[in-house]
Amino acid sequence: MDIMEKKCSKCGEVKDIGEFGKDKTGKNGHAAQCKICRCNHEKKQRKTPQRQQKIKEWIENNKESIALKSKQYRELNIEKITVRAKEYYQEIKNTDKYKKQKKI
Ligand SMILES: [Zn+2]
Repeated sequence: MDIMEKKCSKCGEVKDIGEFGKDKTGKNGHAAQCKICRCNHEKKQRKTPQRQQKIKEWIENNKESIALKSKQYRELNIEKITVRAKEYYQEIKNTDKYKKQKKI
């Protein structure tokens, strides 16, 4: 039987192979880092200024198509959106939170 355990290259813990994501470039088709470490890494990546900048740039470059898409979405789903908004209003109108907001 194969040993279905693997040591994470990041946290150094020996974990069940199921705790490692699939990665074609890794040994035996599994990632070198466990899912938790990879997840943490991705979260950090998302927060880096460079990444934020890239997202910003992407939005800048795609403003028109984003606007067009959301316009098309609204046009196609106007009934759904209206119904949802009404339902939402019915749901929240008697809540304290909404009443407070109204006062402000
Ligand atoms: Zn790890």
